[in-house]
Amino acid sequence: MAGSATYTRSIFYHPLMAKYCLLLACAAAFSFTFALRAEPPVQHAEAAQQKTPAPPNEPKITFNSVHVDGPYIAMTFDDGPSAVLTPKLLDLLATHHIKATFFVIGENVAEHPEIVARAAREGHEIASHSWSHPNFAKMSQESVRSQLQRTDDAIKSAIGKSPTLLRPPYGSITEREKRWIHDEFGYDIVLWDVDPLDWKRPGPAVVRNRILKETRPGSIVLSHDIHPGTVEAMPSTFDELEAKGFKFVTVSELLAMASPVTPYPKAEAVGKTAAKAAPPAVPGSSPGD
Ligand SMILES: [Zn+2]
Repeated sequence: MAGSATYTRSIFYHPLMAKYCLLLACAAAFSFTFALRAEPPVQHAEAAQQKTPAPPNEPKITFNSVHVDGPYIAMTFDDGPSAVLTPKLLDLLATHHIKATFFVIGENVAEHPEIVARAAREGHEIASHSWSHPNFAKMSQESVRSQLQRTDDAIKSAIGKSPTLLRPPYGSITEREKRWIHDEFGYDIVLWDVDPLDWKRPGPAVVRNRILKETRPGSIVLSHDIHPGTVEAMPSTFDELEAKGFKFVTVSELLAMASPVTPYPKAEAVGKTAAKAAPPAVPGSSPGD
């Protein structure tokens, strides 16, 4: 108590010390006010960060579409192979010189390995779509691993090599699953940006029109080679996509073409007006736009 009294007294006995304390008090008051004002934006920023799915530096492993410089797209066919429809589709693809990607079901591969082998031989990509089409997001890690391993084995036995891409059934997969599957199997997770909802069997014309309306350069088009209407829609779909200038590649080829989302940062830095005045020439881009 005696010490505290001495301290209080000492402030008033030394004018310089009193001035210094006043300054300190002012600084503290200012910081407090500033902190109060700054708090809401900081909280906001944190909330926004939590919503961001992955840090920008982490390598991308999930793809709905690909940013490409050119009119390239990937046609993908899920749930096969089908004994009747897949060979029919392969004939069509051969006529049009189109390379596609088949996301196959392991069970079907085991039943018709010769169809999968033919598809691979003719330049198409074979990718995994699980063993029996379950919902990965609702399964144990062990069950998902077994689905993937059996399918990988069946594909390897049919075409001599493992797939590098996975499309989870229904597109249903957790962030955690994506990560460990990528780490264990090396798969990229491929979803889609064009969905004609062909599994609802709306008729070939509707399937074709939906695909034509939604497809852009870099699109990954989803459909199923187990529905007769889908295969029936393909000749005119291919014709019209070709007429719009699109070029067909496999998903892995499309991924390899990925270009930065801002491909001309220097032009933008120099001046947006200049960049706008002279847009870079992209061969055949944005057909239909
Ligand atoms: Zn499927």
